[in-house]
Amino acid sequence: MPVDWEKIEEKWQKVWGKAGIFEADPESNKPKYFITVAYPYPNSPQHIGHGRTYTLADVHARYMRMRGYNVLFPMAFHYTGTPVLAMSKRLKERDKELIDTFVHIYKVPKEALKDFVEPVKIAQYFHEEIKAGMKKIGYSIDWRREFTTIDPQYNRFIEWQFKKLSEARFISQGSHPVGWCPSDGNPVGQHDTQGDVEPEIEEFTLIKFDYDGYFLPAATLRPETVFGVTNMWLNPEVEYVKAKVDNEQWVISKESIEKLRYLNRKVEVEESLSGKELIGEKIKSPVSNEEILILPADFVDPKNATGVVMSVPAHAPYDYIALERVKREASKLEKYGITQEAIDKLKPISIIAVPNYSPYPAADVVKDMNIQNQLDPSLEKATREVYRHEFHNGRMKENTGEYVGLPVAEAKERVKENLVKTGKAETMYELVNKPVICRCGTECVVKIFQDQWFINYGNPEWKATAHKCLNNMEILPEDLRPEFNYVIDWLHEKACARKAGLGTKLPWDPEWIIESLSDSVIYMAYYTIMKHIQKHNVQPDQLTDAVFNYIFLGIGQPNEVAKEAALNQKVLEQMHNEFSYFYPLDSRHSGRDLVSNHLTFMIFVHTAVFPETLWPCQIAVNGSVLMEGQKMSKSLGNIIPLREAIKMFGADPLRFAVLATSELLQDADFSSTLAKSMRDRLERFYQFAVETVQAQANVKGGQLTLTDRWMLSRLQEHVRTATRSMDKLMVRKAIHSALYALDQDFQWYLRRIAKENMVPKRKSAITEVLNKILDAQVRMLAPVAPHICEEIWEKMGREGFVSLAEWPTYNEARVDMGAEEGETLVRNVLEDTLNIIKATKIAPKRINYYVAAPWKWKVYLTSLEKSVSERIVLSALMKELMTRPDLKKMAEKVAKFTRLIIDEINQMPDDKKHRQLQVKVLNEHQTLKEAENFFEQELNAKVHVYSEEDSQRYDPKKKSELARPYRPAIYLE
Ligand SMILES: [Zn+2]
Repeated sequence: MPVDWEKIEEKWQKVWGKAGIFEADPESNKPKYFITVAYPYPNSPQHIGHGRTYTLADVHARYMRMRGYNVLFPMAFHYTGTPVLAMSKRLKERDKELIDTFVHIYKVPKEALKDFVEPVKIAQYFHEEIKAGMKKIGYSIDWRREFTTIDPQYNRFIEWQFKKLSEARFISQGSHPVGWCPSDGNPVGQHDTQGDVEPEIEEFTLIKFDYDGYFLPAATLRPETVFGVTNMWLNPEVEYVKAKVDNEQWVISKESIEKLRYLNRKVEVEESLSGKELIGEKIKSPVSNEEILILPADFVDPKNATGVVMSVPAHAPYDYIALERVKREASKLEKYGITQEAIDKLKPISIIAVPNYSPYPAADVVKDMNIQNQLDPSLEKATREVYRHEFHNGRMKENTGEYVGLPVAEAKERVKENLVKTGKAETMYELVNKPVICRCGTECVVKIFQDQWFINYGNPEWKATAHKCLNNMEILPEDLRPEFNYVIDWLHEKACARKAGLGTKLPWDPEWIIESLSDSVIYMAYYTIMKHIQKHNVQPDQLTDAVFNYIFLGIGQPNEVAKEAALNQKVLEQMHNEFSYFYPLDSRHSGRDLVSNHLTFMIFVHTAVFPETLWPCQIAVNGSVLMEGQKMSKSLGNIIPLREAIKMFGADPLRFAVLATSELLQDADFSSTLAKSMRDRLERFYQFAVETVQAQANVKGGQLTLTDRWMLSRLQEHVRTATRSMDKLMVRKAIHSALYALDQDFQWYLRRIAKENMVPKRKSAITEVLNKILDAQVRMLAPVAPHICEEIWEKMGREGFVSLAEWPTYNEARVDMGAEEGETLVRNVLEDTLNIIKATKIAPKRINYYVAAPWKWKVYLTSLEKSVSERIVLSALMKELMTRPDLKKMAEKVAKFTRLIIDEINQMPDDKKHRQLQVKVLNEHQTLKEAENFFEQELNAKVHVYSEEDSQRYDPKKKSELARPYRPAIYLE
C-alpha cells in the first residue's frame, strides 16, 4: 500500500495551521525556548542546500517542543542590500543568462518576470515563493511574526540599534579600504559576490628601486626580505607604463593604473613600454645602493599589485625556481644583452636563520616538494610553508644591518615602517583572494573610501566582551569554538553602510543605507514584538527610541513613555513582557559560511546593546549539501529548487535525506536514490504502524518473557542514545538509533518470536511490546518526519498531536540487564553453533549444550570483580581463590580454568564487565531451555540443554568440561 505523501502533508499542514499549534505566546508556567535561523534573502528560490539549514532548525524546534518547552520559532525576510538591484538592472539590459536562470532553473512565470524591472518586486516574488516552500516542507513557524527588513517599523528598530552602537562609540567614520565593484560604484561584501566570497584585503609594501630617475615599486608582503634581493622580475610579455604617480615617476604594469586611482592616487601615464624593453636593465636597491639586474619571469602577474616583483631566491620558492631556470637557460638571455658572467654572479642571499632548515629554506622546500617549474601550483603551498616557519621561528642575520637578531615577525613591521618613513617605500592595498567577481559580473578592486561609516569591531574592550559572551555560549559542534575565537580577534573596522540598495537609512546621515551584514544581527529581539506591531497596527513614528529603550532595556516609566509616543500603554507593556519572556535567544542556527561574519557580528552587537543576561546562549552551525558528490552550482545544472524536490520525493523523505546521512559540520551528499530509499524506509515504518494498530484491537495482558523484556530493555537504550544525540543536534546519530539500530534489535525480536506469535497467550504480550516500540518510535521520528508521524498518531487513536506529545524518556526501571545478557547468550550460542556446523560441514540431528558449573561462575565473577580496579595476574588471583575451602579442594581444576579465562577478562571492555557484574550469576540453563524451540527451528535439529555437573547428562565426548560462563560447551552429532 503506497503512501500518498502529498495528501498526508497537505492534510496535516492545514490541521496544524487551523489549530495554531506553532504559535507561541508567553506562558508563565512553562519554560520557553527561542530558536531562530538566519532569515533568507529573497533573490532566488530556496534549493535543497538551504533546506538543510532550515530543516535542522525546525527539527530542533520540534524536538524542544516535545521536551516540554514553549518554543518560539519565527521567520522573516531579508530584503536589505543590492543583489536585487543588480538583478533588475541586468533584466532591463535583457541579460540572457539571468533570464535563462529565472525561467528554466527558478521556473519564474514569464508574466511575473515583467514586473522584475522593479527591484522590490523581485524580492516580493521570491519572498512568497520561499514562504510557500517552508510551509510545504512542514516548518513549525509562528507566521504571525513575519516581517521584511524594509518595513518602516523595522527601519525604526535598526535606527535604534545604530544609535545604541554610536552611543557606545563603536561607530566611526573615515577613509578605509573596502572591496569595491567599479560597475555598481558600491562596496562589496560576501553577499554581493559570485560564489559568496568575502573580499580579503592585504596591505602590500611597495619598495622603490631606482631606475634612472624612475622608481620600480616592487610589491611585497615581506618587506624584511629586501636585504636578500638578488634581482628584479618583470614579465617580458606584459605591457608596462612610465607614469607620474602623485609627485614621482614610476614604472608599473598597465593593469595597476586603475587600481592605484581607486586608492586615491593621481596617475598620469607618460608612455607605454613592453616588458621586454626593461629586461637586462639595471636598477638600484634602496637599502644597499647595489646595482640589480632586471630578469624575465613568467609568474609575474600584471594584475597583482604593481606587476613589479623583487627576487629573494633564498627565502621565496617562486624566486628560487625562476632563478634556477634563468641559470639553465642563460644563453637565451643574450638577446637582452645579459651575459653568462652576469648570470653566474647571481647567488641566493640568505638573510634569515630558521631552525631545521639550511640557509636557503626556499631551496629546501622546492626540493622536498619536487617542484620543477614556475607555473607549478604547489609553489603557493611551498611559499606558505617557508613563510610560516620563517615568520614564527626565524631571526634576521647579521647582513640585515640594524635588524640583526630580531624575530622575523618584528623585523617585518620595523623594516616597513622605516622604509615608509624615509620615503623608500609606500603601501598599497590589494585583494589577496582575487579574482573576486561581483554578482553583476565585474571584477572587484580595492577602493579607499572617504567618509565611510564603520562599525569598529577592532575595539579591544569590545573584543573582550565578545569573548566573554562566546565563553558562556554553547557552540554546536564544539569543534568550531576556536574558529569563533579567531574571528573575534581578527575582525577590524567593518564598513556598515553604502549609498545604494534597499534597507534602513543611517539615522544621522541619511545619504547612507545600512548594509545587510549590519542590520541582521539583533533582529531576533524584534520577532518578540512583531506580533503586537501587527495586531495593534503600531505605526513607525510610535516606535520612538524611548519606546525601544523601555521594551528592550526596561528604561523609563511605561505610562510616560507610552504617552509621549501616543502608544497604548498596555500594548507597550505587552511588548516589554513578551521580549522579557522570550529573550535571551536560546539557539541560533546558520550555515558554516556565516561564522566569519554574521554569527560573530551577532555576538558583538548583542554585547553592545543588551545587558549580559540577554546575550545569546547557543549557536548551531551546519555543513552544506552536495548533489551526487558534487558542489551544487548553476553551471553544473544540479540545483533542485526545494519545492520541486518536495513534489518529487515528499516533504518527510526530503527532510530525512538532508539530515540522516551526515553529522552537523559534514557535507550531506544528496541524491534522488537516497531520497527514494528514505521514502521506502518511512513507508515500511508506516506499514509496521498500521499492522500493529490493527493487531492490538482485542488484546489484553499476558506474561512478558525474557525476550520481551530484552526488547523493551533495548528500546530504553535506543531512547537514551537518541535523546543524548538530539541534545547535541547530532540528528544523524539520533535517527540511526531511533530507526536503524532499533530496527536491528526488532528484527532479531521478530525472529525469536516467529512461532510464538501463533500462540494466543503469547500474542497479547507480543502486541504489548510492539505497541511500546511504535509509541516510542513515532515520537522519536516526529521531529524529522512530522507528517507521517502525525498520521500514524491519529491511526493509533491518540489525543492531540504528536508534534506536541512528550518525547519518550529513558526509563531506567525498564532496563533489564539480566534479559539483555541472557539474550546475548542465546545469540552467541546460535552463532557459535552455526560456525561449528559450517566448519565441520555436518548436518546435526542432535545438538547438546552444557552450561558451566557453579564453581566456575564463582571463579569467573571473582576474577571479573578484581579486574575492574587492576590488571589481574594468576598468582595473586589464585591466592585469593584458595582462601575459599570449596575451591581449595579442587585447586588444580581451578588453576586450569583460571588460566583459561584470565586474558579474556583483562581485555574485556569496562562497560561489559560492569554489566556482567550487575547481573551476577546468569541462569544459563533456564535461558537456553526457554529458547530450545527457537534453536530447533533455526538449526533444524533436536536441542538438549544440560548443566555441566548434571549426573544425568548425555555427554559421550566429555565436552561439558569445556563449558565457561557465557560460553556453554557445544556438542553436535
Ligand atoms: Zn557589480
